[in-house]
Amino acid sequence: MLNIVLFGPPGAGKGTQATLLKEKLNLIHLSTGELLRNHMAQHTELGDLAKVYIDKGELVPDELVIGMIKSDMKCCGNKKGIIFDGFPRTVAQAAALDELMNDLGMPVSGMIALEVPHDELIDRLLQRGATSGRTDDQRNDVIENRISIYHSLTSPVMEYYKKQNKYYPVIGIGDIDEINERLLAVINKL
Ligand code: ADP
Repeated sequence: MLNIVLFGPPGAGKGTQATLLKEKLNLIHLSTGELLRNHMAQHTELGDLAKVYIDKGELVPDELVIGMIKSDMKCCGNKKGIIFDGFPRTVAQAAALDELMNDLGMPVSGMIALEVPHDELIDRLLQRGATSGRTDDQRNDVIENRISIYHSLTSPVMEYYKKQNKYYPVIGIGDIDEINERLLAVINKL
C-alpha cells in the first residue's frame, strides 16, 4: 500500500498535486480542508465550530480534526492507498495518524514536503482567493496568520517524520507537471 502525507505551507500546491497523484496512482485523496469546508457548507455541528477557526486563519483544534479523520476515512476498496493533504498539521495529529494507520496495518509510507518561498505563497493564495471564493484566501492578515501558524505549529511535523526516516523534501516551484514528475520520482522509491 502507498500511504502518503503530502505536506507544505498554505499555497504550496498540495491540493493540486494530490488531485493529479490520486488519478495517476489510484489513491484515495483525503483533504482535511475539503472535508471541513463540506461540513461548513452543510452546517453540521463540526462545520459551525470549525468556521470560527478557519475564518481567522487558525487551526481547527486537534480533537475535532482527528475525530473527523477517524469517522470520514474510508479505505480502500480497489484503491492502492491514501494521500493525505493538509493533515497532519500538528505533531499531535501526526502521532494520532500513526496510531490509526499502524492499527489498520497500513502505516504511512512517507511524508513529501513541498518547498515554496514565502512571497510566492502569498501571491498564489491571493490569486486563488480572487477566483475560488475561499474567504480565507482573500485577506492578507488571515493569509499571514496561516503561514505564521504553519511555521510555529505545523513545521515541527517535518522533524517527526525525519526521525522515522520518512521525510522527503521536493521543490514546489516550476510548472505543475514538472513538480508532479518530481513527486512521482520520490514516490517510486518509497
Ligand atoms: P491551505 O493549505 O491552503 O491553508 P486547507 O484547505 O488545507 O488550505 O485548509 C484550510 C483551513 O482549514 C486551514 O487554514 C485550517 O483552518 C483548517 N484545517 C485544514 N486542515 C486542518 C488540520 N489538519 N488541522 C487543523 N486545521 C485544519
